[in-house]
Amino acid sequence: MATSSDQRRQAAAGLDQLASLVRAQSWRKDLPPTQAAVLRVLESVSAGQRARQLAERLGISAASLSDSLKALEAKGWIERLPDPADGRAAIIRLSAQGKALAQELLGGEGGMAALLKRLGAEDLGALLRITQLLVFEAQQQGLASGPRTCLGCRFFQPHASGDRDKPHFCGFIRKPFGDPELRVDCAEQEAGTRQQLAANARRFRQAMPA
Ligand code: SF4
Repeated sequence: MATSSDQRRQAAAGLDQLASLVRAQSWRKDLPPTQAAVLRVLESVSAGQRARQLAERLGISAASLSDSLKALEAKGWIERLPDPADGRAAIIRLSAQGKALAQELLGGEGGMAALLKRLGAEDLGALLRITQLLVFEAQQQGLASGPRTCLGCRFFQPHASGDRDKPHFCGFIRKPFGDPELRVDCAEQEAGTRQQLAANARRFRQAMPA
């Protein structure tokens, strides 16, 4: 069935409404969405990260990140440490209090996670597949550079395993895997070349080969 502009409008409206709901929920906790996003990213890098890398991963400007970092520091949720590799830079990492809050945010009860609680593995797999494509599109349009997805990864080989249940292959762990195991934030991810990513996206969009 061909996709129509009305279908796209409906899907876009649904996503916009969900994003607004989650933003509103974050504000109700007195936690602006950008600050919540900083806590989530820092939770995945225990050694901390430079501000420039953080801004890249979040797809926001350095100025906007700087305001959020000042606010988080004032609340005692992050700390800045000297960067051993660069005397002029600082490493930002979570304080013990910030780590506890980040784990609460990621714990499956807040934000989008609260809306996904009843989805089974198949639906989650479908959602992860669509999320890969949406993040890829955001990267193509210059809206985001940071997300560490499978579809942006040089180790990713979509529909390459020959196994219907686990059609993709990860060259890093050297194992096949299926849509439910697709990663949106993988610590081992390494960005692929432009040509490799375009070819992977084409193959990933197609139905699985017979
Ligand atoms: S290294 Fe991580 S992001 Fe890359 S293909 Fe494997 S699981 Fe996916």
